[in-house]
Amino acid sequence: MAKITMKTPLVEMDGDEMTRILWQWIKETLLEPYVELNTEYYDLGLKHREETKDQVTLDSAEATKKYGVAVKCATITPNAARMPEYNLTQMWKSPNGTIRAALDGTVFRTPIIVKGIEPYIPTWTKPITIARHAYGDVYKNTEMRVSKGSKAELVVTDENGNETRELIHDFTKCDGIIQGLHNLDASIAGFARACLNYGLDLKQDVWFASKDTISKKYDHRFKDIFQEIYDNEYKEKYEAAGIEYFYTLIDDAVARVIRSNGGYIWACKNYDGDVMSDMVSTAYGSLAMMTSVLVSPDGIYEYEAAHGTVQRHYYKYLKGEETSTNSVATIFAWSGALRKRGELDGTPELCSFADKLEKATIQTIEDGVMTGDLYLISKLDNKKKVDSKTFLDEIKVRLEKLM
Ligand code: NAD
Repeated sequence: MAKITMKTPLVEMDGDEMTRILWQWIKETLLEPYVELNTEYYDLGLKHREETKDQVTLDSAEATKKYGVAVKCATITPNAARMPEYNLTQMWKSPNGTIRAALDGTVFRTPIIVKGIEPYIPTWTKPITIARHAYGDVYKNTEMRVSKGSKAELVVTDENGNETRELIHDFTKCDGIIQGLHNLDASIAGFARACLNYGLDLKQDVWFASKDTISKKYDHRFKDIFQEIYDNEYKEKYEAAGIEYFYTLIDDAVARVIRSNGGYIWACKNYDGDVMSDMVSTAYGSLAMMTSVLVSPDGIYEYEAAHGTVQRHYYKYLKGEETSTNSVATIFAWSGALRKRGELDGTPELCSFADKLEKATIQTIEDGVMTGDLYLISKLDNKKKVDSKTFLDEIKVRLEKLM
């Protein structure tokens, strides 16, 4: 059978440790036999980031802007322990942070649902996608401790030097604390567009929530920007697609999410997204069973796994020991990127290959063949734990039947 060809290159960002090993195996076993892979390769492994003084990360982000779709392997974000391990001259920044800043994107995380691995909330029969705003609020704050007898004020000086003041609190009775937060209209608008575009992509409703009844200027501004953009740019498209944009208070949203069946995108402010994405991923089972995609407001996509480099398994692998590392999230990063490439290039055979690859992966687990992490939580009676490579071979057997 002739291999499927690709019109436009896909930006390929290689990574570190166990996921770098899986990356190679996935390509050899599940991709290269079927697709004439046309990628522009960037090695974001820590060794090469050090050699290029992190230029490679910036170059890969620029390439993503140029071609529109990237797939990324998990990478090490260096800490003190990594400095001697990789002979680093600097504690290079998180590549994900660098790429996110370059693309001004929003990260969408969706659980991959398989039979036998039941969510802790039994009514969640469809996935809930969390979209987290990645700019500002408490993550870019200024804080102070204030001593008794002080008066704290918010002061804004405009470009002509005129001051506007608002009392925060008169600390007459005891010491205390204050905090200054900000956000930008442009960033909020970018977030709103990314979420509303993704809703159209997935044909799913978009929920957004904040605390605008209490925060009448700050959170209210988020609510207004979302509503304006929806009304002016998306309302007709949403009505045509039979989906809706829905705003409610954050406490009401949490109650509705728990009672829901899933099947929508939940847009969260930065802090809410931080907290809720961990709750949702835990409730669905495992970080290795999540897709993760960074979407920029102008429609650039970067697909990745939601987990890290699985360091502990890598050290076992280096000692020649058997590992049973879950490659599902990395496989879905590839299938997501290939499908998007296919959609943009008008090559339906590439989209169809991506569908089959995902189907074969899910079928393998539902047949009872799985890695150690899933073996611990699967409710299937016939389950069998396999090593990292056998898991890929088993997917290949099922993929061959679907091709
Ligand atoms: P990790 O996700 O690699 O591992 C956390 C825990 O989950 C470990 O117990 C691990 O064994 C388990 N786990 C994760 N993915 C698994 C999989 N696919 N199969 C089986 N078990 C899995 O996170 P960590 O240990 O905190 O970090 C390791 C390295 O990864 C660090 O250097 C960190 O900087 C990096 N990291 C990268 C990303 C990214 O690139 N997106 C995200 C998080 C962490």
